Amino acid sequence: MFVRAAISAFLLGVTVLGVASAAERTGEAVPPTGAADDFPVASDVRLGGDDAQTRLIVDLSRKIDVRTFTLANPYRVVMDMPQVTFQFPPKVGEAGRGLIKAFRFGLVMQGGSRMVIDLARPAQVDMAFVLDPIHDQPSRLVLHLTATDRESFMRSLALETGAPQRGKPEAPLETKGSGDSRPLIVIDPGHGGIDNGTRAASGEMEKTIVLQFSLLLRDKLDKIGKYRVLMTRSDDTFVALGDRVQFARARQAALFISIHADALRRREGDAQGATVYTLSERASDARAARLAEAENKADVIAGLDLSAEEKDVAGILFDLARRETKTFSVQFAQTMIGTLKTAARLHQHPLKSASFAVLKAPDVPSVLVELGYVSNKADLKSLISTEWRDRTADSIVQAVDAFFRPRLAGSGQRSGQN
Ligand SMILES: [Zn+2]
Repeated sequence: MFVRAAISAFLLGVTVLGVASAAERTGEAVPPTGAADDFPVASDVRLGGDDAQTRLIVDLSRKIDVRTFTLANPYRVVMDMPQVTFQFPPKVGEAGRGLIKAFRFGLVMQGGSRMVIDLARPAQVDMAFVLDPIHDQPSRLVLHLTATDRESFMRSLALETGAPQRGKPEAPLETKGSGDSRPLIVIDPGHGGIDNGTRAASGEMEKTIVLQFSLLLRDKLDKIGKYRVLMTRSDDTFVALGDRVQFARARQAALFISIHADALRRREGDAQGATVYTLSERASDARAARLAEAENKADVIAGLDLSAEEKDVAGILFDLARRETKTFSVQFAQTMIGTLKTAARLHQHPLKSASFAVLKAPDVPSVLVELGYVSNKADLKSLISTEWRDRTADSIVQAVDAFFRPRLAGSGQRSGQN
């Protein structure tokens, strides 16, 4: 359900281009979502051509169906396909060629993979097809792009997306409250699936680091028994930012904790330590503003079309934010700084604020923790150390306990002072 937006983008205005299904051609059944090793493997990718015409070729272990569509602001071509195991060489997609600036790939929902291609300038998809394997050659996915101008790009975009409006069906909740009066804590591991987040020079990815940390934190909070704990994702799946917020709001969460790991580019210098962020319209400093901008790009990275929603989200949600929620968010962030510093190294300015999309629930106190910098050697060592994670997760549990103590005291549970 968290992938609602992804699914609607998946279903929306998608152009199917001359691809015969594997089943049609070979009579072989395509497994829908079986064991991991049932998935077709994409083993290599190559770019060819120039600024006028560019092609992208992917080697596949067997034939699959692909569908493509385009997105503007920024110009992108999205290719959706059944779930594929990507085994591309490292760093592939970071550099482009011709019309292709860069590309990303990964899981966008269970059973569905995606490649998102950032265009250097407007381009049109001439062809997208998958060739049968021949002799010792693997099956090949071929995408042909030709340069075009903005006007033509926007015109074909309007044709693609003209028919169905991107709907937001309200999916029913599986369990609402279920008579359990314990406060609900939502843990939100950042990124996932096609969106890797930041990456260390040695290859460790933010999405994996924060998921492992979040699972540990969940188990620790669960064990106490005083809270209900849910996660916006508990595996390597992409979840849109708005769906993360909605997940917490729909369940009336009492606290939302988003977990991330930051990185600086070499020219930005070096920094280390954990930082806790709360929401503010105006960022506490320029670096916090840039970070929020980067974190807010998750949906663009995954190839979602935000052109229809951006305005509403930015303006109205913030206006609606209740003073009380904001006060609680800051209070929790301060408490967390207090407990974190006993366990982990803190950034020199550990409490900051900026306009993070994922913190915009007007009725759920929300914080975003950057556990450290994957670009810093000492931080990275901590982030992947079991001992550091254990200690740091414990310190967040202490902050949660301190935050809820006055509230739970009033509801007949164990009392405490504050
Ligand atoms: Zn992040």
